[in-house]
Amino acid sequence: MDYLPVFLKIKGRPCLIVGGGDIAARKAGLLLRAGARLTVVAPEIGPAMTELENNGAIVHARRAFSAGDLRGQVLVVAATDDEALNRRVSELAHDSALPVNVVDQANLCSFIMPSIVDRSPLIVAVSTGGASPMLARLVRARLETIIPGAFGQLASLAREFRAQVKEHFEAPDRRRRFWEHVLDGPIAEMVFAGRTAAARRALRDELAAGHDSIPPTGEVYLVGAGPGDPDLLTSRAIRLMQRADVVVHDRLVSDAVLRLARQDAPRIYAGKQRSRHTLPQENINQLLVRLAREGKRVLRLKGGDPFIFGRGGEEIDTLAQEGIPFQVVPGITAASGCAAYAGIPLTHRDFAQSCVFVTGHLKDGRINLDWDVLAKPRQTIVVYMGLIGLPVICEELIKRGLPEDLPAAMIEQGTKPDQRVLTGTLKTLPEIVESAGVSAPTLTIIGEVVKLRGKLQWFESASETASGKAG
Ligand code: SAH
Repeated sequence: MDYLPVFLKIKGRPCLIVGGGDIAARKAGLLLRAGARLTVVAPEIGPAMTELENNGAIVHARRAFSAGDLRGQVLVVAATDDEALNRRVSELAHDSALPVNVVDQANLCSFIMPSIVDRSPLIVAVSTGGASPMLARLVRARLETIIPGAFGQLASLAREFRAQVKEHFEAPDRRRRFWEHVLDGPIAEMVFAGRTAAARRALRDELAAGHDSIPPTGEVYLVGAGPGDPDLLTSRAIRLMQRADVVVHDRLVSDAVLRLARQDAPRIYAGKQRSRHTLPQENINQLLVRLAREGKRVLRLKGGDPFIFGRGGEEIDTLAQEGIPFQVVPGITAASGCAAYAGIPLTHRDFAQSCVFVTGHLKDGRINLDWDVLAKPRQTIVVYMGLIGLPVICEELIKRGLPEDLPAAMIEQGTKPDQRVLTGTLKTLPEIVESAGVSAPTLTIIGEVVKLRGKLQWFESASETASGKAG
């Protein structure tokens, strides 16, 4: 993060704007909305600022800026077309540790102003850290369309009851759940429909009914996190990620995805990696049960899809036995994600009528697979966990009659910014992979469809362009 987002309280406090043109007037309008006591210093002011002056909204000092103007201010904005003056204001402000914004000159600013969606008291602020104000505006425009206008009223209603609810529910978890129930249910709908009085009555009733209306036991959400790109999460996954009180995740869940879970929900790592201290499966199952028994909403996040080579079935089996409520949210499995981002359709009318997913996990140097079933023409084979076993897999398939020059690809870090795709044939791929220095997770796709990548490749990753190694 290049900037720390904060919300500044300037209500009733002295702020200064240097400059009197249209842009200065727009900034003035914004500061006034936040309740600033505003002085504008400028020898001349434009019509918009004049109007503010005539309304008594600002005090206008009709003269040039001088250093003394900064005294006693809590915030200053320089919005003149005189660069030297802007710079001087910025330097003086920096000297006295006064927050300063210079319009359109990020290098002179100690703070920048985001694009905002104003549903006061709800404010959404969007910034690209100066990288692209236009992009921030586009995001803002989208938010405007998805946040109903009445969200402000809803926020006001919540503020009205906040202290009361806090007193009523001492445990933060229960309080959170109560609010969720209010803000995400029929009461919120009443507010959105303009029935604020009815909503207030309903909220009061809910509070009187108290604890009983809130389910006491926790639950588990077994959620597929997809292969890495956070945009591939389902809406339900995101909603539940925001709801959960605690997150239990795997090694495969990408950081970009994890960041989308509720920020104050503790993360518990339950990955499987030899080098790190991890939990055996039995302990993970028990952990989920224990957390849910504590009344928590547990997000069990698993890479890809929880029901594909994910042992998701075992985890919910335990939950079912223990009578813990749960739901399962499918995710994009590595095969779909990697195939799509590598430009390799898994089936194709001309090349493959079937597709099999197998695990290439080595056990005592051997892989326990039905090779005869795999070594079929017009079939795509997708191998999960097959990095170390790749040479054995290719060799066995050739032995069972698949052609040596059958195209094959290995996708490393699929769907992520550092995705890399190596292509070759059953004969050449193991060596290509070996010399490229590949690291898990990787997925192997074997079959005629791999050659379609030549035409269909669309996802260009930085490392591919840079190294030129990938096919
Ligand atoms: N449940 C997961 C699979 C877990 S098994 C799913 O549905 O995708 C772990 C294997 O998945 C890894 O060894 C690798 O073969 C594959 N995998 C998961 N994410 C991947 C990614 N981003 N890129 C390549 N392979 C991936």
